[in-house]
Amino acid sequence: MANQEDQFKKLVAHCKEYGFIFQSSEIYDGLAATYDYGPYGVELKNNIKEYWWKSMVYHHENIVGIDAAIFMHPRTWKASGHVDAFNDPMIDNKDSKKRYRADVLVEEYLDKIEQKVNKELAKAAKRFGDSFDAAMYRQTNPRVKGYLEKHATIAKRLATAMTNSDLDDMKALIEELEIACPVSGSRNWTEVRQFNLMFSTQLGAVAGEEGKLYLRPETAQGIFVNFLNVQKSSRQKLPFGIAQIGKAFRNEIVARQFIFRMREFEQMEMQFFVRPGTQKEWYEKWKAARMQWHRAIGTPEDKLRFHDHDNLAHYADAAVDIQFEFPFGFKELEGIHSRTDFDLSSHQELSGRKLQYFDPEINESYVPYVVETSIGCDRMFLAALSQALREEVVPDAEGKDANRMVLKLHPVLAPVKCAVLPLLKNKEALTTKAREIFNRIKFSFNCQYDEKDAIGRRYRRQDAIGTPFCVTVDFETLEDDTVTIRERDSLAQRRIPIEQVEAVVLEGIDMRSLF
Ligand code: ATP
Repeated sequence: MANQEDQFKKLVAHCKEYGFIFQSSEIYDGLAATYDYGPYGVELKNNIKEYWWKSMVYHHENIVGIDAAIFMHPRTWKASGHVDAFNDPMIDNKDSKKRYRADVLVEEYLDKIEQKVNKELAKAAKRFGDSFDAAMYRQTNPRVKGYLEKHATIAKRLATAMTNSDLDDMKALIEELEIACPVSGSRNWTEVRQFNLMFSTQLGAVAGEEGKLYLRPETAQGIFVNFLNVQKSSRQKLPFGIAQIGKAFRNEIVARQFIFRMREFEQMEMQFFVRPGTQKEWYEKWKAARMQWHRAIGTPEDKLRFHDHDNLAHYADAAVDIQFEFPFGFKELEGIHSRTDFDLSSHQELSGRKLQYFDPEINESYVPYVVETSIGCDRMFLAALSQALREEVVPDAEGKDANRMVLKLHPVLAPVKCAVLPLLKNKEALTTKAREIFNRIKFSFNCQYDEKDAIGRRYRRQDAIGTPFCVTVDFETLEDDTVTIRERDSLAQRRIPIEQVEAVVLEGIDMRSLF
């Protein structure tokens, strides 16, 4: 655990040192749970968005994109249920004065039980060697069985309390499990209260409730209210989808863990409209497609898992999370929800406008059902970085062992694709040649010219930001127009003619390899 915490601290420090992420308004000591993306951060984030957008919009004839406003008519949020039900249960510790999400306190307790189970399994695996059957052991070992039963009972009770908004039982559960405040160590808790997560602001000069506006807590509603506009203008037939990338805002009760939980963040959402009755089939299809999207960029299978929702949101008839193993454990990275016709029907009712689709195949009008995929861009960023950042020992220029920090991002996601490096800074013939190469290839992808410091240090700098290719211009280049191209992960270097550089890099970063 300490090791994981250390790793996480290193990652946060790396993000700052190399210009990926800064705390917002840092010179004023920062603003809680708000972050700014630096020069490499914005590139990585844009690449994540591009990968998502292309895989959704460009690769599906029946998915189109939109970019809706952050502000929406206040009745939108009444219809969606957010005014009445977008709450989290909060609880305060009277001694430390720290505030927590009551459900998260219980979930952390459940995580600890899970860790105990994993420990038992690891011990047994060591003892039994190759013949070990983990599934069987879970069913038969009395201690593991006990843990699992306890886990299931608590998870069920929490889910029921959440579904019924039973705040008293949530408090009772925290007391029965003897959960203590991690800061004060005491069990001196307040009652559990509901807290609405929407930020509000005022419209123009209109005072009071009349002019109350909300900052959207999800991008989905901009898609629902535009459903017919988009369907008609793009001449789509069901099933079809609408995709959107944009900011969302939530007044999170506790926002820790860096960019995992922010108050201003970005979502990549796709709402897929289907004929009622076919939602289950589409839900399964999107589950598989989204998992494949994560695996395609090299995320190891054991770092991803499906996690069915224990308590379904008011709008859903099925819901699953894709969880990723962050440095602080398996947590939600993406949600896939079968939202029924809840949203469109509510908007239809509250606006008085028909939001129905005439299905020519069955000669019937109906309110479509919706299957959505919803992923946080910032969480995806954190997932990509946390699996890519490695500390390695590699041979240096003299063949001695040297440490390097390397970001083994998939080349498609890497912020800089190629660095062009003259061997020496003060040899004009080398720098001129290197700049010529840079000026030639800069139109095809993001590249960087760097002449400062010894070549080894420049390689390290590129490794630390995840640049997959480094091109070095040396004296041989001046004679035969060849350069060395160094590959980030294997460290292999080979000589190629200058005119091949662009093609070699383009091949290495080609998104087609992912599909
Ligand atoms: P959580 O349970 O972690 O609060 P959620 O279930 O409320 O998340 P959804 O409403 O399903 O999240 O939102 C879809 C996606 O948006 C999430 O899978 C996550 O990647 C992202 N997301 C949600 N809240 C935040 C946040 N505060 N900061 C960053 N990303 C977020």
